[in-house]
Amino acid sequence: MTHEILLQPGEVLYHQGDTNDCGYILESGEIVLFATMDGRRVDTERRGPGSILGELSILTGKPRAVSVEAVTPARLFRIPADQILQRFGKLDPVLRACIETSISFTATFSQRASNDQGEAPLAQSTLRNSEELIALFELERDMIEGLQNGEFRMHYQPIVHLEDGQIAGFEALMRWIHPTQGFIPPDRFITVAEMTDSISKLTDFALIETCAALARMRALNPATQPLFASINISGADMGRPDFIDFLSHTLDLNGLTPEDVKLEVTETALVPDSAHAETNLKRLKDFGCGLSIDDFGTGYSNLAYLKELPLTALKIDRAFAGDAHANAVSHSIVKMLIGLAQELDVDIVAEGLETEEDVNTLRRLGCGLAQGYFFDKPLTEDAFVDAYILPRNRQRNVA
Ligand code: C2E
Ligand code: CA
Ligand code: CA
Repeated sequence: MTHEILLQPGEVLYHQGDTNDCGYILESGEIVLFATMDGRRVDTERRGPGSILGELSILTGKPRAVSVEAVTPARLFRIPADQILQRFGKLDPVLRACIETSISFTATFSQRASNDQGEAPLAQSTLRNSEELIALFELERDMIEGLQNGEFRMHYQPIVHLEDGQIAGFEALMRWIHPTQGFIPPDRFITVAEMTDSISKLTDFALIETCAALARMRALNPATQPLFASINISGADMGRPDFIDFLSHTLDLNGLTPEDVKLEVTETALVPDSAHAETNLKRLKDFGCGLSIDDFGTGYSNLAYLKELPLTALKIDRAFAGDAHANAVSHSIVKMLIGLAQELDVDIVAEGLETEEDVNTLRRLGCGLAQGYFFDKPLTEDAFVDAYILPRNRQRNVA
């Protein structure tokens, strides 16, 4: 079925009461929406280019509420209903509930305006998962309060050279001990924070804390090779107009340089969805801090796009790295990813190595850097300093 529809003046696109399987975008021309009430035609609204049509009946699943007729020659683009519904289904659940409530209110209101009045009908609840939504709002509120109340901490997991086991740097990982619920896994609260603006507050906290911790470690043992700090950031941070300035300022405050820090971002978060994100990615190249792709291999890997990025490392996801010794497919994927990193001339870091077998396999495959419980778990700053920074331990070979 063609997506382009041309209407001449007076031609009808659809009639009130028709069933529907699509919406439309009016590309050019003008149309009029009209309803038939008591046998009379009532024109409700004219619309020009850039309007969307037929969306209401798709979202409510009801027949067309009005008819649509061309006023001037009109060109329309047809969008299948399932494409609209799929997008609607992916919306933030709170936003979706707000839209569903407004749609249902509008539909009831216009129906009652044209029918006789009586007792107000009982509207269907649009919140199918109200407990879940309340929990989400509570978690977000608690997160903001928790940041102010010092409930958040950063932990540091060593990243080591696989060849000799010497420490190269660390990944900063956030920890939140909720006053009543106890430990909340970062996967859970980061996902909630990413739905809202709170993620920028968490990222700022991670940057400020980690840079300060790295500066304290340097001060404790200035004689040694500098370690790098790898910090997780979200796609939304990349779109912040002030992000690189903030990072630069935080580094300055702590006497650090961009080379001391690597930003870890997942593949999907690296596809710029705004002009700011694109500008930031370009600025990162000149700025000089590292950029690692996190969980590499689990995203949609647009290999051509990788070459465009100011990349300095790929991190092989635990699902492959921690499985390569036992599973032939994982083994091949890891081998391929190591080859790809060499091709792109970037570092490669294996994540989630837990056993000696994991370590030996990755070392044999030529992987340069690694982290995982085999070496150490994420540690508090004190424990990290004690194990890796103080002079007596600094040469500790972790492999
Ligand atoms: P990630 O960035 O992939 O971090 C690695 C995760 O693997 C961490 O989980 C780490 O504790 C865990 N891990 C490390 N070695 C091993 C191992 O040998 N075996 C196993 N099973 N796990 C290992 P964690 O700390 O629970 O963090 C989970 C995710 O939460 C992170 O995944 C990251 O996506 C997110 N996250 C954590 N901290 C931050 C943060 O400060 N900012 C942002 N934006 N996201 C964060
Ligand atoms: Ca990470
Ligand atoms: Ca990862």
